Amino acid sequence: MTVAITARTYQNLIDGEWVDAADGATFERVSPAHDVVVGRYPSAGVVDLDRAVAAARRAFDEGTWPMMPGVERARILNRIAERIRAEADDLAAVEALESGKPVSQARDEILSSADLWEYASTLCRHTYGDTYNTLGSAMFGMVLREPVGVVGMITPWNFPLLIISQKLPFALAVGCTAVVKPAEITPGTTLRMAQMAQDAGLPAGVLNVVTGSGRVIGTPLAAHPDVDMISFTGSTDVGRRVIEASKSNLKKVELELGGKNPQIVFADADLEAALDAVVYGVYFNMGECCNSGSRLLVQESIADEFIAKVVERARTVPVGDPMDPRTKVGAIATDEQFGKILELVDSGRAEGADLLLGGGRMDTDAGRFMEPTIFAGVEPTMRIAREEIFGPVLSVMTFKTAADAARIANSTTFGLSAGVWTKDLDTAIGMSRAIRAGTIWVNTFLEGYPELPFGGYKESGLGREFGRFSIDAFTELKSVQMHLGPRTSWWMPRSGGDAR
Ligand code: NAD
Repeated sequence: MTVAITARTYQNLIDGEWVDAADGATFERVSPAHDVVVGRYPSAGVVDLDRAVAAARRAFDEGTWPMMPGVERARILNRIAERIRAEADDLAAVEALESGKPVSQARDEILSSADLWEYASTLCRHTYGDTYNTLGSAMFGMVLREPVGVVGMITPWNFPLLIISQKLPFALAVGCTAVVKPAEITPGTTLRMAQMAQDAGLPAGVLNVVTGSGRVIGTPLAAHPDVDMISFTGSTDVGRRVIEASKSNLKKVELELGGKNPQIVFADADLEAALDAVVYGVYFNMGECCNSGSRLLVQESIADEFIAKVVERARTVPVGDPMDPRTKVGAIATDEQFGKILELVDSGRAEGADLLLGGGRMDTDAGRFMEPTIFAGVEPTMRIAREEIFGPVLSVMTFKTAADAARIANSTTFGLSAGVWTKDLDTAIGMSRAIRAGTIWVNTFLEGYPELPFGGYKESGLGREFGRFSIDAFTELKSVQMHLGPRTSWWMPRSGGDAR
C-alpha cells in the first residue's frame, strides 16, 4: 500500500474562534489501514467544554440566530451544503483515512451529507405552530413552535460527517445552537464542516466543536445544566450512560443506537436481487454500520442453494486499501473493535454455529483487515444472533413460515431496521407490520431519504431524526392563550352560578 499520507492538524471552534485545548493537550489518529498518523486534534477538557457551552448559551439567549428570518438561515445552510459538495473529494479522503472506509463510499456519504443540509434548509421556512379559533368568543389560542435551545450532539466514528449532518442542520434550521463532540477517532470532517459553516456566515457561538474523549467531555456535555437537549448516536451501552447523565437537569434526549438487523428472504423473492443486497447489507462499511444486515433469515425450501450463493459471492468482495477506488471493504477502525469482533466469532464457534467463510484477520503488511465471515446453523439464542458484532460477520438462520420469520426477527433487544424480500404483497405488508423496527426495506436495503423518519424501536433508540420529525425533536411547543374582551373576575359568581 503506497499512499502518500500527511497528518493534518486541527483546532476546535469555540465562540467563533479556532483554539487549542486550554491546557494544550492533543491526541492523534493513526489510519487503521496504513498505520500512519493522519490527524492531530485538541484533547479538550471540561474547561474547554464549559466555554463551548457558554458560547452556545449566549448565542441562543442573546444572539440573532433563533429569531433570524428563516430565509436567511436557509441561505447559510445552503452555502454550507455547496461547500461540502465542492470539497467532497478532500473530505472523502479525510474520512477514509481516519475511519478505514473505502474512499469511493466515503465520497457518496459526503454528497448525501450535502443533501441533508440542503433538505434541512427547506425546513427553515416550514417550521410553524398552530392557532385555535374554536375556544369561544373570548379566547384565541396560539401554539408557538420554538427552538429547544442549546443542543449537545455526540456522534460515532462509523459515518462521521453523515451522522452529524443528520442532526446539526435540522437543529440549526429551527433556530437551535449547538455544541458538537465527534468521535475521538474521526473528528476531521466535522471540524472541516465547522470551518465551512463559519465561512458561510453562521454567527459566532451558534456552532461549537470540541474534540476529545467521551468519558472526559461527552458525559459532562450530557450532564451540563446549560444544555437543553442531547442528541446522541452511538452504542446502546453509552446511550444508557447519556440518559443517566442527562437526568441532572432532565434535558430532552434523542438517541440513535445499535441494531441487529435481519434480512428475510422468502422463496418467492427475486433471489438475484436479494443475494446482492444480503452481501452488500452485511459487508458495507466493513459491517461497522448500525443498519448492518447482520442476520440472514432464509426460507427453508431455498436455504441450501441460497446460502451457497451468498458464500460464493462473499468470497469475491474486494477487501483492501480504502484509498483504492475499487475497494468495497476497508480496514476495521480500531484494534479494540477488531478484538470485539474476533471474540464474538469465537463465541459463534464455541456455541456450535457452522463457520462457512472467513473468521479471521487477513495477513497484510499494514493495517487491520477482517475476512468476510459467514456462520450458518445459527440459533436465535446464540450471541452471534443477538449481539451487535459491528464487523463483517453474517449469521444465517432458516425459517418455515412468515410467522416464524417475524418471531425470529423480533427475538433481539434491538429494533432498528429489517429487509423483507418477497414478491407477494400480503407477505410484504404482513411482515412490515409484524417486525418491530423503525425502518423496513421491502425488496431493497440500506436506502435513506431525509423526508422519512429514521430511528429505532426497543433498545435501538429514542425519538426520530429527519423530515418534519426532526422539527418535533428540536422544538418545544408553547401554548399562548389570549383573552379577548372583559374577563369575569375571580370572586364574582358567573351568571348561571358557575363558581369555578
Ligand atoms: P460509542 O457509543 O462508543 O461512542 C459514540 C460517541 O459517544 C463517541 O463520540 C464517544 O466519544 C462518545 N462517548 C463514549 N463514552 C461516552 C460517555 N461515557 N458519555 C458520553 N459520551 C461518550 O459508539 P461508537 O463505537 O463510536 O459507534 C458505534 C455504535 O454506534 C454502534 O453501536 C452503532 O450501532 C451505533 N450507531 C448507531 C446509529 C443509528 O443511527 N442508530 C448510527 C451509527 C452508529
